[in-house]
Amino acid sequence: MKTDPVDDRPDAPMFEAGAWGLSTQESELSTVARELGQSRFAGRAAGYDRDASFPTENYRDMHKAGLLGICIPQSDGGHGAPLRCYALAAAEIGRYCGATALTWNMHVSSCLWSGALTDDLDMDDATRAQHHQNRSIHYRRILDDGAIYAQPFSEGGAAASGAVAFGTTARRVEGGWQVNGKKIFASLAGNADYYGALCTELLNDDDRPSRRNTLYLAIPAAADGVRVTGDWDPMGMRATVSRTLLFEDVFVPDGSELMPRGIYYQAASQWPHMFLTLSPAYLGLAQGAYDFTVRYLRGELPDMPPTKRRMYPTKQLAVAQMRVMLEQTKSVWFQAMSEARRSPTKDQVMRAYVAQYTVMENANELAQLAIRTCGGQSMLKALPLERIYRDSRCGSLMLPWTAELCLDKLGRDTLYEAGETDES
Ligand SMILES: Cc1cc2nc3c(=O)[nH]c(=O)nc-3n(C[C@H](O)[C@H](O)[C@H](O)COP(=O)(O)OP(=O)(O)OC[C@H]3O[C@@H](n4cnc5c(N)ncnc54)[C@H](O)[C@@H]3O)c2cc1C
Repeated sequence: MKTDPVDDRPDAPMFEAGAWGLSTQESELSTVARELGQSRFAGRAAGYDRDASFPTENYRDMHKAGLLGICIPQSDGGHGAPLRCYALAAAEIGRYCGATALTWNMHVSSCLWSGALTDDLDMDDATRAQHHQNRSIHYRRILDDGAIYAQPFSEGGAAASGAVAFGTTARRVEGGWQVNGKKIFASLAGNADYYGALCTELLNDDDRPSRRNTLYLAIPAAADGVRVTGDWDPMGMRATVSRTLLFEDVFVPDGSELMPRGIYYQAASQWPHMFLTLSPAYLGLAQGAYDFTVRYLRGELPDMPPTKRRMYPTKQLAVAQMRVMLEQTKSVWFQAMSEARRSPTKDQVMRAYVAQYTVMENANELAQLAIRTCGGQSMLKALPLERIYRDSRCGSLMLPWTAELCLDKLGRDTLYEAGETDES
């Protein structure tokens, strides 16, 4: 298998601990992620991309390194990493393999959302006790067996943007739930052990489906009635294997709830930074495009002639432009990640939209600048840049915070305060 060339020298951290004021945990876990990414994932990325195959070996490595449980609470045996800590580690992985970082986001979200995030929300003691019992079942599977969780929300309609209730339904039956529906772009399809799917709970036959009744269920991949269909041959993020999932009268036992009933709705409205979790993979790609360009122009890429191109003023100017864009992107992203909490201020929420928009758009812009600056040879598939370019194009399409929707929300929220209209 032809693999990307790997440089032996250890890469510097994307966020140097002292300069950015990282905690010991943030510094340690992002170091583990960077070392794995550079030593193992970078070399495998070209093969997964070419074959559009899931990075199973990377997941085995992440399990051994304790990264599958990064956001599992410490009381359950995980690292108990908060959002920013996870995001810093995920960005380091995205630097070497965007698809591994993006799919890891789906897996980790199931732990972060059922863990620290849910701990921040209101529920009575009995509900919380039951939730802790339920989630520990998921966590044990992940920590002991390396179980992988996917996060299929998208259905092709307006539900994934939060505009309407999900079309996938869960009906209460003896001992659990019966699930029916279809999810598109289900990353890890056919490779995850559980699908953490958002469904709408059907209470009475004549009730209109409501977003308030959203239920977050872990559906076993091996359950009767679960099918993976369609192919997956996209432009970028090919190793996410985001095929279509069908649920046909799938029985899901009690205890499979990743959040108690009604809590997902509370989370989505009170903890908006939960939707920033897709951005680290793309921030890593932005860094990867920059790293490549610097090495290329310095003539330091392995398996390439040591031809330097750094002496041309046009190259220096282009790298300067890339540096400016990268620093701007990292700064607003780091600030937004640092502000993640329950009930953030309006300004903080707007900054989260700005961060998401900036990362998703700039990652592709940086990859584009990198190709222009490095020239024709950088487009060869034997080198990682053209993959970074294709992968980074997907970022602004990710619901619920696509680049368009971020602009939409920013414009409206800037010009209108809550409840304001133009009617006199
Ligand atoms: C590589 C990759 C992996 C993915 N993995 C997953 C996954 O694991 N799980 C998952 O659930 N999804 C996943 N997705 C799906 C993703 O989040 C989107 O749901 C999907 O790309 C939407 O497809 P669409 O653009 O055709 O959607 P559409 O709903 O047709 O939206 C098209 C565009 O219209 C705009 N739009 C949409 N809704 C509104 C609205 N209400 N108001 C105004 N404008 C709107 C948005 O800008 C959007 O980009 C993945 C996507 C990609 C590219």
